[in-house]
Amino acid sequence: MVIIKSDEEIVIMRKCGKILAAVLDKLRAEVRPGIKTGQLDIMMAEESRKRGVIPSFKNYRGFPANLCVSVNDEIVHGIPGERILQEGDIVSLDVGAKLNGFHTDAAVTIGVGRISKEAADLIAVTEGSLKSGIAQAISGAWVEDISSAIQHYVESKGFSVVREYTGHGVGRDLHEEPQIPNFVIGKGLLLRKGMTLAIEPMVNAGDWHTKLAANQWTVLTADGSLSAHFEHTIAITDNEAEVLV
Ligand code: MG
Repeated sequence: MVIIKSDEEIVIMRKCGKILAAVLDKLRAEVRPGIKTGQLDIMMAEESRKRGVIPSFKNYRGFPANLCVSVNDEIVHGIPGERILQEGDIVSLDVGAKLNGFHTDAAVTIGVGRISKEAADLIAVTEGSLKSGIAQAISGAWVEDISSAIQHYVESKGFSVVREYTGHGVGRDLHEEPQIPNFVIGKGLLLRKGMTLAIEPMVNAGDWHTKLAANQWTVLTADGSLSAHFEHTIAITDNEAEVLV
């Protein structure tokens, strides 16, 4: 069932989103060659605690860290730890925060030092596809309008969208209905004011197929190609969507 949020609930999510954006900015600023991904995990916990929010991912279905850190061919759900970021890597930071019973969710992909042209293009296209999807997210449109905009944008640039993982409703739970696929698979739901959605294209430089790492969490590209991920939490309004984080 899709949960429509009241104006009061959107106010809480807006506040949660602002805090999460500030935390994500802090993390971004730490990304450089030589940093251990586990340091980002510690920072996520500390910066969240300072600001009075709870990292949403910790222990979610048993996830062992405060955020997901996915490097190069890792698409999503990378577990921060001993890995040291190297010049030329691309790293996706996926974060969630809970405030007063409501979650928001966001992700960015960042280049570590100097990166290849292909990597820079992949990052730009993934971010661009998220913008084009959000532009379709208006009351009276369908979920498919978002999916279609993202897929066409990505494929027109020669990259592919991951199919096994999708965006989602977000709010009282980290994952609510509806699913927001990044490719066309059916009309989906009619968008209505008060829906809060996490839209999150995952884009591969090569083929769209994925595989699961031995840790049973980290999702990788099947062909070893690079992958990027951007995510915003938005609220559907009577006009253009409001980006909450
Ligand atoms: Mg998400």
